[in-house]
Amino acid sequence: MIEKLLIANRGEIALRILRACREMGIKTVAVHSTADEDAMHVRLADESVCIGPPPSALSYLNIPAILSACEITGADAVHPGYGFLSENARFAEILEEHGITFVGPTAEHIRMMGDKIQAKATVKALGIPCVPGSEGALKSNEEALRVADEIGYPVIVKAAAGGGGRGMKVAQNKEELIPSLSSARAESKAAFGDDAMYMEKFLGKPRHIEIQVMGDKYGNAVHLGERDCSLQRRHQKVWEEARSPALNDNQRIEIGEIVAKAMSNLNYLGAGTIEFLYEDGRFYFIEMNTRLQVEHPITEAITGLDLVREQIRVASGAKLSFDQSEIRFNGHAIECRINAENAETFTPAPGKIENYHAPGGLGVRVDSGVYSGYTIPPYYDSLIGKLIVHGNNRNECLMRLRRALKEFVIEGHGIETTIPLFEKLAMNSDIINGNYDIHWLEEFLEKESSKN
Ligand code: ADP
Repeated sequence: MIEKLLIANRGEIALRILRACREMGIKTVAVHSTADEDAMHVRLADESVCIGPPPSALSYLNIPAILSACEITGADAVHPGYGFLSENARFAEILEEHGITFVGPTAEHIRMMGDKIQAKATVKALGIPCVPGSEGALKSNEEALRVADEIGYPVIVKAAAGGGGRGMKVAQNKEELIPSLSSARAESKAAFGDDAMYMEKFLGKPRHIEIQVMGDKYGNAVHLGERDCSLQRRHQKVWEEARSPALNDNQRIEIGEIVAKAMSNLNYLGAGTIEFLYEDGRFYFIEMNTRLQVEHPITEAITGLDLVREQIRVASGAKLSFDQSEIRFNGHAIECRINAENAETFTPAPGKIENYHAPGGLGVRVDSGVYSGYTIPPYYDSLIGKLIVHGNNRNECLMRLRRALKEFVIEGHGIETTIPLFEKLAMNSDIINGNYDIHWLEEFLEKESSKN
C-alpha cells in the first residue's frame, strides 16, 4: 500500500486529495510554487517542497523538480489531480521508471485517449456510439468534401491533438469547408504542433452528458452514472448536475453498461470520464478524459462513494471495492464553479479575500482552497471553489442551492465572484425545468448583456 503520496497540484483539488489521504492514513507531500507559499494545501500537508517560480511551466509542470521532491521526501506515489500533468503520458512513464506509483491509468491509455482520432477509433471498436464522420484523419481536401457530402452539412472539423475547444471549426456548407479546414489546421499546428484533422457531423442542440468510470488492475470496471455538464461558456463547464434532467433510468443503464463493458475490455485502470454529446435520444462520443474531473463531487454525492480514495486503492493494486450491483444512485446533486471573475464580463478578478464564509448544513459541500486573509495569485485558473449541493430530488436540490448561495460570503480587495450568476441561474425557468443544451448559457448571457 502507498505510504506517502505527493500531490502534484494546487488549490481545491490538492486539498481534496490530501483529505482522502489523511482518512486513509497516508502521509502527504505538497508541492508549490513561490506564489503558493501560503496556500491551504501547503499548510495542511505533512511536508511541503517548493518546486519553482510562479509560472506553471517552471513549477507545477516541471517534471524534474517534482521527481526531486519525490526523492527528497521519499514519496512512493504521485496524484496529479486534474490539469497540469494529469494527462501527460510521459510523466506517468517517468514515475513508473523510478518505481513511483502514478495514481491514474497506464501511460498507454493516456496516450491513446489524448489523440482524439485514435481515441475515437478505439472506443468505436469497443461498441461506444460515435458521431458520424471521417474514418480517421482527413488526407486531402477532396476527401473532406466527399465525407461532408456523405454525412451532410453542417460539419465540424477538429484537430486530433485539440483541447480546450481549440483547433475546431464549423462549416455550414461546401463553400465554407476548405477555408474552415485550413484555418483549424493552422490553429492546431500553432497550438499543438500537430495538424492532423478529422471531421464530424455538427450537432445543433446537443447536451453534454458524461459517464464516470472506474477500473482496477484485474479487468473489473464499473460506471458511476452520468453528469450533465451542458451549461458551458466558451467550452468551459460552469454548472454540472448528476443525474441528467434529460435521461430516464433505461437510457442511463443502457449507456452506462456499454461504457463499463468497453472499459473492462480495455483493462482501464483508475478513474475516467467518457464524454458524449446527446441529442434526440442518442449518444455520440466526443472524448475520454483519463483523470479525475473537476465535477467528480456530484457523482460522490449521489453514490456516497469517495472517488479519490478508490483511485488510490486501485493504483496500489487493490480490487475495486464495489461491483456494479452495489452502486446506488440517490437523489440529485448540482455543482457550481465559483470563479474569481466578474459575473457579467468574466474578466478575472483575483485579489485578497478579507471576509470568507462558506455555506454549510444538510446536503452542502464546499471544496475550496481559500480562507480569510488569503490572496488569490493571478498566475493560475480563477477557480475559488466549488459549491456542491445534494437533495432527495432536483427540486429540493435547487432550493438548497439557492439558500447556500445566499450564505456564501467572499469579499475583499479587488475580488469579484460568479456567485451572482448562479443566483440568477438557480431562479431561471429553463434551468428549473431542466430545459437547456450546450448553447443555452451563452445565449442567456448575450440576452443579459443586451439588457444593460
Ligand atoms: P476539447 O477537447 O477541445 O474540449 P471536444 O471534442 O470535447 O474538444 O469538444 C468540445 C466542445 O465542442 C463540445 O463540448 C461541443 O460543445 C463542441 N463539439 C465538439 N464536437 C461537436 C459536434 N460533432 N457537434 C457539435 N458540437 C461539437
